[in-house]
Amino acid sequence: MTIRIKSEVKDEDTGARVVRVRLSSSNSFETPTRSLTSTEHNYQVETMDKIVSSLGLGQGPSIAFENQIVQASKSHDLLQLQRFLKQNGVFHQAQRSVTGLVNAYPNKFIIYYPAFTAKMLYDENNVIGIENLKTLVDFQVNCNLKNISIPESHPNQSFDHFQQDLQALSKRALAYGADIVIPYLDMGMENDLFEAKYEHLIDCGFPIIGAAYRKYSEHYPNYRFLQQRDDDVLLVCSGVDRYWRSNYTTSFMHVPNFWGFDITSLYARSVPPKKDKFGNVIRKSIDEVKRFDADSLGLVTLSNHEQMYGTELRCECPVCQGKDITQFKQECSVDSKGNKGSHILDKFCKVHEIYASTSEFTNERRYIKQNDAKTYIDSHEFLKVFFDSNSQSS
Ligand SMILES: [Zn+2]
Repeated sequence: MTIRIKSEVKDEDTGARVVRVRLSSSNSFETPTRSLTSTEHNYQVETMDKIVSSLGLGQGPSIAFENQIVQASKSHDLLQLQRFLKQNGVFHQAQRSVTGLVNAYPNKFIIYYPAFTAKMLYDENNVIGIENLKTLVDFQVNCNLKNISIPESHPNQSFDHFQQDLQALSKRALAYGADIVIPYLDMGMENDLFEAKYEHLIDCGFPIIGAAYRKYSEHYPNYRFLQQRDDDVLLVCSGVDRYWRSNYTTSFMHVPNFWGFDITSLYARSVPPKKDKFGNVIRKSIDEVKRFDADSLGLVTLSNHEQMYGTELRCECPVCQGKDITQFKQECSVDSKGNKGSHILDKFCKVHEIYASTSEFTNERRYIKQNDAKTYIDSHEFLKVFFDSNSQSS
């Protein structure tokens, strides 16, 4: 699959912009938008039977996701990459989940996010090394990925080493059949290096650049630099948190585009469920489940939703359609296999979030096209709270 990018509009007050992405003669879409991730794909698979039967429809276009970019990802560390190379079977086993996602979306554009934690890279100051990066390229090729992502050996490595590694690894990826090479920059690196590396990637003509998200408050200069960009390159922000912080649960998906990113992707780390002293899993109550609210751009508990809006769900996505909040809690807390509880409701909420958050980006683009992103921010309570407390951003 090829990709062509043309920047259309840039908002004057923020870094937000609208870009037209063309995947084929008949398939194009606009950004900013969000990708679909492997975790979200799994939630959809687990809830799909129930959604289809509650709508009384056959499975078809009405419930298909419109997102054209899919993010596959895995967490990596040095030990695991060495095991890929030294132990038979380990590589193959890790490959299966990624290949499954690739095969599920033959017509979508798939980007691989190689996730390394900030702790492992910065606190422990580990260098990934060229041999491990070769393994990572081979891993993606073996997962049937056509777009191969290449992270750096270390985010703060010198410009010369960065350039040499990228050249060698790109050659390897292309030799093994890659269509597109996607270099990944880490948002946590030092600012002078970040700017030099970014400019180099633009000069080299890469159509897509990936960025591993690191905290905005700690790495402001790199984000500030990107706000001024006006290149025809698709910039993907991977690994953003689902919400800002526990007392202000702003949907973080909707933040990076104001810093110049075109596509935003979540990265969900699996957290083991809480247990009591007898080893029984403790689940939150149904009313504590957080659901994406497009009107405020927050993740809002169902009890708060009721206080804010009453019993109407205010969403016409395939999960919410035709239900009030009472019906939503009852019907979506049981799956088609009879599993029941807040953990099931949580999955339905996340599938709702994919539909509702994607449509909300469509709404936002209308404001950017009118050069009015500021009004958009101010009219969404949780987004406004975030930007008001990070005032350097305006
Ligand atoms: Zn919905």
